[in-house]
Amino acid sequence: MAGASVKVAVRVRPFNPRETGRNAKCVIQMQGNTTCITNPKQPKDGAKNFTFDYSYWSHTTADDPSFACQRQVYKDIGEEMLLHAFEGYNVCIFAYGQTGAGKSYTMMGKQEPGQEGIIPQLCEDLFQRTGENSDPDLTYSVEVSYMEIYCERVRDLLNPKVPGDSAGPGAPHPRPLRGGSVQTGCDRILRHPGPDGRRQQGSVCVTVAATNMNETSSRSHAVFTIVFTQKRRDQMTSLDTEKVSKISLVDLARNLAGSERADSSGAKGTRLKEGANINKSLTTLGKVISALADMQSNKKRKSDFIPYRDSVLTWLLKENLGGNSRTAMIAALSPADINYEETLSTLRYADRAK
Ligand code: ADP
Repeated sequence: MAGASVKVAVRVRPFNPRETGRNAKCVIQMQGNTTCITNPKQPKDGAKNFTFDYSYWSHTTADDPSFACQRQVYKDIGEEMLLHAFEGYNVCIFAYGQTGAGKSYTMMGKQEPGQEGIIPQLCEDLFQRTGENSDPDLTYSVEVSYMEIYCERVRDLLNPKVPGDSAGPGAPHPRPLRGGSVQTGCDRILRHPGPDGRRQQGSVCVTVAATNMNETSSRSHAVFTIVFTQKRRDQMTSLDTEKVSKISLVDLARNLAGSERADSSGAKGTRLKEGANINKSLTTLGKVISALADMQSNKKRKSDFIPYRDSVLTWLLKENLGGNSRTAMIAALSPADINYEETLSTLRYADRAK
């Protein structure tokens, strides 16, 4: 268990029309913080229990008190992470799970009132809080970037057309990384924005991000990053001290375990390469999180090796995962029996992150 620094939540979505059409049965139950999954082939003795910091139930109507709405998820996880950022920590929220399980809904949501996900709510909350500042010695700056990692390459999603890259959104060949280090070239917009333009620019940014997110492959990781700087001027010395926090909000590529494995689906060529890259980065992320957990529980020494460099994702998030950081993971689950294997694999991955 990674001390208090990794919060893990699971969220089950309602049935989708395809599942309803196939008369799918619900294999998930939630009671308090415990999530139980039942093997539909062995309903009597195939139940497995997992305990997480939060279990979000939405397999019910929106007026039911147990229904976990977007606001609730933001309040529990997004707001907590934002408050850590104000304290000066780097923070990271991951959404993990199979395609269609609700990762994008949780992170970005929809542009309808009450349907906004963690990213727009956190940006709104950040601008609200910084806008309320009346301390003349305290100034804030916010820079935003949004990147896609596809097959270990990075592409800028806020400004997909950058010099040397003629590819637009959805193009298959994002710019490669050069020289072994992460040179994203991604624009960080909102540099030291004035107080009036700040909120407006922020919402433009989120709208662009939400639109471009629709263009991303389900086989890429989408990383929305806010670099939040708090600068305080000391009246006596006129010296500035800066607190810089990196907030990374990550919609992870789809979990390819289970039915999409190469041997069972017969995936070939590009699909196979995509799958191998996704598995490599998700495995590395798991290893990094568990190495950090071991370090915090003193099973590992600080000098011990943490394999950040093994994937672009973990290398990009190095600052967010190491020492001065707070991490949350939300595992998105389908309720349906037809997705049992993949849902179980998502629960196991989330369980290892604890
Ligand atoms: P993913 O990003 O994991 O592929 P999505 O977030 O796109 O999945 O979700 C698939 C569909 O299910 C979308 O239409 C989304 O609006 C809906 N959905 C997902 N989670 C929820 C939820 N908690 N409540 C209501 N609808 C949801």
